[in-house]
Amino acid sequence: MKIAFIGLGNMGSPMASNLVKAGHNVTVFDLVESAMQALESEGAGRADSAQAATQGADVVISMLPAGVHVKSLYLGRDGAPGLLEALEDDASNITPLIVDASTISPEDARTVAAAAREKGFTWLDAPVSGGVGGAKAGALTFIVGGSAEGFEQAKPVLDVMGKNVFHAGENGAGQVAKICNNMLLGILMSGTAEALALGVKNGMDPAVLSEIMKQSSGGNWALNGYNPWPGVMEGAAAGRDYEGGFLTDLMAKDLGLAWELALGSKSTVPMGSQARNLFALHSAQGNGGLDFSSIQKLYREGE
Ligand code: NAD
Repeated sequence: MKIAFIGLGNMGSPMASNLVKAGHNVTVFDLVESAMQALESEGAGRADSAQAATQGADVVISMLPAGVHVKSLYLGRDGAPGLLEALEDDASNITPLIVDASTISPEDARTVAAAAREKGFTWLDAPVSGGVGGAKAGALTFIVGGSAEGFEQAKPVLDVMGKNVFHAGENGAGQVAKICNNMLLGILMSGTAEALALGVKNGMDPAVLSEIMKQSSGGNWALNGYNPWPGVMEGAAAGRDYEGGFLTDLMAKDLGLAWELALGSKSTVPMGSQARNLFALHSAQGNGGLDFSSIQKLYREGE
């Protein structure tokens, strides 16, 4: 299949790489030159613009930071046309399936999906879970919102990058499920960091404490697979000064999306709000570009 892939960050690069390895004809675009060069060396084609990347594509996949980027890519900005318009004008006359894997608000997803539908395109919100490790291993969980036909069409491509592919419901439902998941993850990561700091301040070895909690009722994904204390878990972001991974700023964004969703539906999210404040404070202290497990540092101040 001819696939256009836009957005080669921590997640997009390994996802695009897996599509290349599976034998698809992938053309990439990112604003960062070095990210495109890396994919090119693996066998992908590269384009000078998102519009150029999508020419003649059967499937368009985007993996961008936030809703503002997704809307400006597809709908345009400051009078400049967006990708939907360019796809409509594409002389190859192929009607591509469009899959956005970014985490954005359900409202933004529905807005772009409706604009795509008006032009005759199927647009799916397909946010992912599983982190950079899952992206590299082709073991992501995709949470898809959109039509059942679109889901069936996308599934073979998503199966290359993921292990679990769920159809959550209509457009926006993928984002609702993803936001609920990440609110829980933010709560679990900050709770895990808090428990580890408490134990260490009271004389525990963080590795011993982690092993005990893993085998006890406090075990959870953050502790079991993404331990935030440096040196406890091989391969975890904590062991490389929290470089790369899932950035604090992206977690703060997702907790903000959860807060907006709660406001709109008159839901109460006291734990999610607390987590949002913790990650926002951590970001304000200059840690926005570090992996979100660096929230551990917040509990170690003054050591
Ligand atoms: P990132 O910041 O590492 O990468 C985003 C990429 O998009 C960058 O390379 C940037 O240059 C590019 N970009 C921005 N605007 C662009 C444009 N107009 N055209 C082309 N490229 C553009 O982010 P990431 O960690 O890869 O995350 C991407 C999305 O996936 C986010 O919505 C995030 O919340 C979500 N997510 C991330 C993780 C994770 O562990 N990192 C896990 C699950 C979901």
